[in-house]
Amino acid sequence: MAFSYHNIRTRLALRYTLITSVLLFLYALSTSLFLFFYLTKQIDMNLKEDLEIIQELLAQAPEITYNMQHEDSLHHSKRYERFVEIWNSDGTLAYRSQTLQQRTLGEAPEKEEFTPNQIPYTVVLEDGTLMRFRSTSHAVGNKTYFIRIAMSEELVFEQMHEFMLMLLLSSPLVLIGAAISGYRMARRALKPIDDMVIQAKKITAENLKERLPVINSNDELGHLANGINDLLFRVESSYQQLQRFTADASHELRTPLTAIRSVGEVGMQEGKPSSYYREVIASMLEETNRLTHLVDSLLILSKADAGVVELRKERINLLSFVNESFDLVSVLADERKLNTSIDGDDGIFYNVDKTIFRQAILNLIDNAIKYTPTSGSIRIRVFVEKSQDVIIEIKDSGPGISPDHQTKIFDRFYRIDKDRSRGTGGTGLGLSIAQWAIRIHLGTITLESNATGSVFRIILPPLV
Ligand code: ADP
Repeated sequence: MAFSYHNIRTRLALRYTLITSVLLFLYALSTSLFLFFYLTKQIDMNLKEDLEIIQELLAQAPEITYNMQHEDSLHHSKRYERFVEIWNSDGTLAYRSQTLQQRTLGEAPEKEEFTPNQIPYTVVLEDGTLMRFRSTSHAVGNKTYFIRIAMSEELVFEQMHEFMLMLLLSSPLVLIGAAISGYRMARRALKPIDDMVIQAKKITAENLKERLPVINSNDELGHLANGINDLLFRVESSYQQLQRFTADASHELRTPLTAIRSVGEVGMQEGKPSSYYREVIASMLEETNRLTHLVDSLLILSKADAGVVELRKERINLLSFVNESFDLVSVLADERKLNTSIDGDDGIFYNVDKTIFRQAILNLIDNAIKYTPTSGSIRIRVFVEKSQDVIIEIKDSGPGISPDHQTKIFDRFYRIDKDRSRGTGGTGLGLSIAQWAIRIHLGTITLESNATGSVFRIILPPLV
């Protein structure tokens, strides 16, 4: 990929270099300071040792000048030259080392300066030389001397200069190294993203089974790839579901259309009595009704899937509402001579979208009527459980649903007995619509069933 500021790797490399340069600067600053203090301390130590030597030399008095000739032993080399002044207590100069030539280390000391082991300090001489100073008073017999010793700090600055020059020369190398290694590191770290992008571009509806490569599932990019793979899995499942739904829907639509067509073809025959044609038209209308019902159901489900259904909730009396809903299909129950009863608590009110909620209740009641044999019974109850859940229970004395089917009957187009269900006008969508309708009211539908019948329960959360 091209080197551009918009690349994460370029930005990371630049940031890495910037951070390295700040760290390098801080490192240079701290080591320089450390070196400066260390070298100064070294001078101070040397000066202290030299003061001790001078004090020893003075102890071998009486002749300072003579004795101090030995002071030359302090002058290891020109670079390490020491400068010494010894003052008498009356303010006259007792000795000045030759190295000082015409220069002086300062005015004659005041009386109060005659104190032992004074703290070292730095002084700029008249000619601009930086000197490190150390002084002490020293008593020999009845005489007190004031000794000043100094050494040029030039050496410190020379060494500092060399050190800083070395840092300055090596810094660009370090920074270039940081930039290159930062860029490489970022490129290597982000390589899995490139691989993911390449693979993601290859994934289409035809190969939704493919997944992104996961190099290390424990790191962040591995988490990202796993997250996208999970998403792909969900997309694949939804896509398969959609494909299945489309295939099932087309199949379901074809059956009544084929029936209409074949009945129509039969009706094309001439010379039949009018009752014959009426019968043909009646069965075409019946298929058309089935078709309309199917299309309506499909429409509801596609709206449900798209999530575009807006609930218009109203407060209703549940028992009255169930009674009214049942009235719409009671004629079917009467036809089958079913023994029906609706009872329960009359004082339960709930907020529902009447159209959608009625759809759920009607589908369950309709199933109970359809699948309960003639003269069977249906009992509907509305009550509040101990847990404060609101229950609408629809119990029938039908054939029951075996455990194998119980988990599947809420699936779209699932019918236990296709032919029988078709004979009763079933589409296999009734329960999935009922389940959706209750779910968007935050409730659930449960099923208990055995050979003596089924109990469908709508469980609604307590109304707060
Ligand atoms: P259908 O339109 O075929 O009734 P549903 O989704 O409403 O579709 O029901 C799915 C299947 O569940 C039905 O085909 C039927 O076999 C079974 N079923 C539903 N309700 C009952 C019931 N009360 N008693 C027995 N079987 C039932």
